Amino acid sequence: MVKSYDVVVAGAGPAGAAAAAVLAGQGLRVALLDRATHPRPKLCGGLLTAKSVEALARIFGLTLADLEQRGGLFHQTPQYVFLHHGRRLLAGAADEPFCFVDRPAFDALLASIAVARGADYLPGQAVESCDAALGVVRLRSGAELSGRFVIGADGANSVTRRALGAGPAGGPSGGYDRAAWRRDLAAAIEVELPVGGGPGCFPRQVLVPELHVGAPHVPGAGYGWVFPGPRGPKVGICGLRRSGRDGRDFGAIFLDFLRLLGVHRPESVALHGHPLPYGNALARPASGRLLLAGDAGGFVEPLFGEGIFYALATGAHAASGVLCGLKNGEAAAAAEYERLLARTVRPELVWSNRLRWLLFRAMRHFGAGPVQGFVQSAPAALAQMVHGRRSFKLLRKKTWEWGAGVGE
Ligand SMILES: Cc1cc2nc3c(=O)[nH]c(=O)nc-3n(C[C@H](O)[C@H](O)[C@H](O)COP(=O)(O)OP(=O)(O)OC[C@H]3O[C@@H](n4cnc5c(N)ncnc54)[C@H](O)[C@@H]3O)c2cc1C
Repeated sequence: MVKSYDVVVAGAGPAGAAAAAVLAGQGLRVALLDRATHPRPKLCGGLLTAKSVEALARIFGLTLADLEQRGGLFHQTPQYVFLHHGRRLLAGAADEPFCFVDRPAFDALLASIAVARGADYLPGQAVESCDAALGVVRLRSGAELSGRFVIGADGANSVTRRALGAGPAGGPSGGYDRAAWRRDLAAAIEVELPVGGGPGCFPRQVLVPELHVGAPHVPGAGYGWVFPGPRGPKVGICGLRRSGRDGRDFGAIFLDFLRLLGVHRPESVALHGHPLPYGNALARPASGRLLLAGDAGGFVEPLFGEGIFYALATGAHAASGVLCGLKNGEAAAAAEYERLLARTVRPELVWSNRLRWLLFRAMRHFGAGPVQGFVQSAPAALAQMVHGRRSFKLLRKKTWEWGAGVGE
């Protein structure tokens, strides 16, 4: 049996919830499906920049006070982030505080707002395949859902992305280059540790986020982090697989990083990994009736690996594209989506990627000096860049544009 909707949103993470909230808010019949049931686990540091906080207000009408009351927000840092190279503290950058959310509660809250606006929530429904031309999503249960449009927001290992087909990368058929996708997919490991002196414990409380670059423990194009976590510090690393020097296993690199941080007997820690798109935003994330958003489309900023904001923004932009497409046809949906991406998200992804390679190559050849010099040259402006007040493009002032249906 095929159940019909105006829009089927596959995946109820931040990208899917944003898309569903915008579209249901316009009175459309929206299915928001997920293979899991909220609250579900999600490996993530949970760091929100100022632009993410603004996006939450725009798309969901959420304030920080709402986040704190209704689950999700557990920590706001003092106005610092510390940058380390090995055991050396390179710099402390000051500007606006960062917020930290517990992803299971946060994602459940966002999905519940989409549902409160009228979306049909379908948990425990895994997508088996998708037909981009027909707008049909086949579920593992054997059921089918059809939509005038489908938004694929099913994360880094997206099944809906396969429906883009094997056409030439960026070609008119919307195909994508799978080898390039794999090349730019980072491996990431993250654990949450109790504070203490015992095996597998973190030796101190963490209130200020730390970034660790360049040490042998962290692969070339990638970095490590120590963030405040809801139950204890979260320690993670991410890096492009191709940068794994001397063929060392990524897990072994991570254990060395834990040792550097003073974790006693890190082998006793159970490791958890998840791929992170790290420089592979798709040139054409729409084909036929399908638009991809968030990690499914590779929309993650490739210097710091920030993905929550880009999931929220691309989910909302895809929804605005659909609103245009419902009036003017499939091509108009893709064109409007791409117009919004080009005006907002793409320049950030392109310029952060340039900066990433500049900094990582400089570090490989000259050690920490150039990075330290760079960060200390304009700490306030660089912090504003991370928060989205300035662009990665030459630190210009940045304003974020939103499409139809968002914040109306
Ligand atoms: C270790 C790690 C740390 C990170 N830390 C940060 C951070 O601190 N700050 C930040 O901004 N970003 C961070 N990111 C990136 C961020 O987590 C992602 O970019 C973000 O979650 C993307 O949101 P999304 O909605 O696109 O995908 P997801 O959040 O992955 O949601 C996808 C949803 O689709 C569902 N799904 C998957 N497959 C199917 C299927 N076949 N059928 C149906 N449903 C399906 C999943 O259950 C899931 O609910 C981190 C990533 C990693 C790996």
